[in-house]
Formats: sequence, structure tokens, C-alpha cells
Amino acid sequence: MSTGSKEKIPFLDLKKQYLQIRQEVLAATEKVFSDTAFSGGPYVESFEKNFAAFCGTKYAAGVNNGTTALHLAMLALGIKQGDEVLLPANTFIATAWCVSYVNATPVFVDCDPETWEIDASQLEKKITPRTKAIIGVHLYGQPFDLEAVKAVAGKHGIFLIEDAAQAHGAKYNGRHVGSYGELTCFSFYPGKNLGAYGEAGAVVTNNEEYYKHIQSLRNHGSSTRYYHDEIGYNMRMDGLQGAILDIKLRYLNAWNSRRKQIAAMYRKGISNRKIKMQQVPGWADPVYHLFVVTTEKRDDLMKFLQQNNVFPGLHYPVPCHLQKAYTGLGYKKGAFPNAEYLSSHCLSLPMFAELTDDEVQAVIETINKF
Ligand SMILES: *Cc1c(COP(=O)(O)O)cnc(C)c1O
Repeated sequence: MSTGSKEKIPFLDLKKQYLQIRQEVLAATEKVFSDTAFSGGPYVESFEKNFAAFCGTKYAAGVNNGTTALHLAMLALGIKQGDEVLLPANTFIATAWCVSYVNATPVFVDCDPETWEIDASQLEKKITPRTKAIIGVHLYGQPFDLEAVKAVAGKHGIFLIEDAAQAHGAKYNGRHVGSYGELTCFSFYPGKNLGAYGEAGAVVTNNEEYYKHIQSLRNHGSSTRYYHDEIGYNMRMDGLQGAILDIKLRYLNAWNSRRKQIAAMYRKGISNRKIKMQQVPGWADPVYHLFVVTTEKRDDLMKFLQQNNVFPGLHYPVPCHLQKAYTGLGYKKGAFPNAEYLSSHCLSLPMFAELTDDEVQAVIETINKF
């Protein structure tokens, strides 16, 4: 029965990476603790400076997670009740939450059937006088068509926000994602390409006004201690996460390169005609947060891989517009055929920088036998 790998090949293994940088991380932990720099502070500021430089933006504001980063982006842009915000139907649900948090209405848009990214040609017919912004998602680590989406936003005088939670280091036409939109939101959830050892996120921007507003909002609406200019939040980044992210940022390009190598091996090695992969346009330089494939008999493939010691992931089984939480919006099955097809046929192959060539080869051989 079992023909593939003898060892289990997981979808993700964070421990291997930790063991590589353990000494550095533990030393940094000790420093943060002895400096009692627990919340915000110099370690967070250092990471913010380095991460902004990495993204090619003027500013980065560290926050307590990626969902918060998106929420703060909505608040900074003044999005509120009665407003509409366009976003892809096929994304992690947090992209939609931020719109709901400010009592605005998420308006979903289908994806392109080949790139699986938000379909820029579907945007204009969704724009109404209430539309205030588009949130594009660099899904699976591959940039969406930033120029095309930005052109629509520009024409209608609405904001563009990039959800780059899966795309640290991805490039569009040779330039890092993060500086096309007014604001770009990152997550440092542990499983992301740049992951904290806990929860963290950031908003990057070239706009000083938005940056300062976000700094204040994350800190109880205050820029001078105990003086509160508006109703704010506690959404600061932990000092520990800042210190650890600063260390990990130095490895990010190398880890992303290895992910790209693995993706290239998958693309070259998988010859099974029952398997389809995400199409990569010429302007996209993806960082492969996930390596997603589709196949007609997804559940069978899932079972077959597991029987052969390969443990895939599934991102995401239900598109946003069909989530129970959003039944109130009134979307029906069939509204977004491409997003719906993807959700019922996708599967995520093992993808992390520490996979060995032998493991990648075993995944390829198993898939080709399906
Ligand atoms: C992970 C993720 C988020 C949310 O980030 P958290 O840090 O988990 O809150 C938002 N959008 C996308 C596309 C994500 O993948």
C-alpha cells in the first residue's frame, strides 16, 4: 500500500528552523527580559526600522497580530459604517473581518481562474458611490496584479490596501510588495514566512500621517502618556516578538530562496496531468508561503498522500462569502465560481525552508503515482 516516504513529511515543521537559530533567539530573549523591555520599546523600534527598510517603505508600525494590522488600516483610512470595501472571496477570513470591525460592508470579488489572485477586471462593476477601498491579498505569497488593481482604485479615487500577510519579500515587477497601496498589512503569525514566537503583525506605509495615527491608535489613542485624543486600543507589539523578528528578518531572504527552490522542484517534478498549479505571471516573484495545487478528486488525493506519509494542508475549504458568519450578507453558492472551485479542489503541499531535497522528491513521486 505505502509506496512513498518512510518518514512522515508534515505540511509545516517550525522546530527545525528554531533549532538553527536557537542560540541567537535565547540570547535575545535574555536581553529583552533583563532590560524589562516587555511591551513596545527599543527592540520593537529596531525591528520596525529594519522591516520598513526591507519593504522599501518609510515607516513600519509593529502591532500585536495581522488581523489588528488590517483593523488599524481601516481605522486610519476613516472607513466606517455605510462604506463598502472590495476584497477577494478567496482569502483567509481576517481580510474580511477588518471591514466588519468598523461596521463597513465587505463586498467580495471573484479570483482569476489561473492565478487565483483577485481579478482586477471584476472590480469596476462592484464599485458604488459607497465604495471606499479595495483590499488586495497577495495570496499564497504571490503578488496580485498591483498595477491593474491600483489603476482601478486611482480612477475611482478609492484607497488600495495590500494584505501581505503571506507575502513577506514577494516582488511585483522587481519591487517589494508593500509600497503600492496606501497601507500594507503583514502578519507574523508563527507559520508565516516571517513568523514570531507568539502573535505579531505590522502596518507599513510611506504616509507619515497614517503612520502616526496608527502609532497612536495602537497605544490607547495616545501620543503623550495619559492624554487620550480619541478612543484607542491596546494593540502594541511585545518586546520579545520585536527582538525575535529582528533576528529572523536577517534570514528571511535565504529562507524565501529555499522556498522558491522547493517550488521550482515541485513545478518541474510533478508531471501528473490530474494536478493543476497556480499560474505565475511574468511580473510576479512569489515567496511561496503555500504551494497550493488543485485536482478534481481533492479528497482522494488528500487520502492517498496521507497513506503515503505526506501530510498536506487545506487553504481554504470555504470561501469568505459562504462562511456562516457572513450569511447576513446574502451571498449564494455560485456567486463566485472561481473562488468556489478553488476551495473545493485545493490542497497545500508541504512547504517550508527546511524540507530536504529527498523529502521534496518523495512528495513529487507520491503525487505522480496518484
Ligand atoms: C494570517 C493572515 C491574516 C491574519 O494574521 P494574524 O496574524 O493571524 O491575525 C490576514 N490575512 C491573511 C491573508 C493571512 O494569511
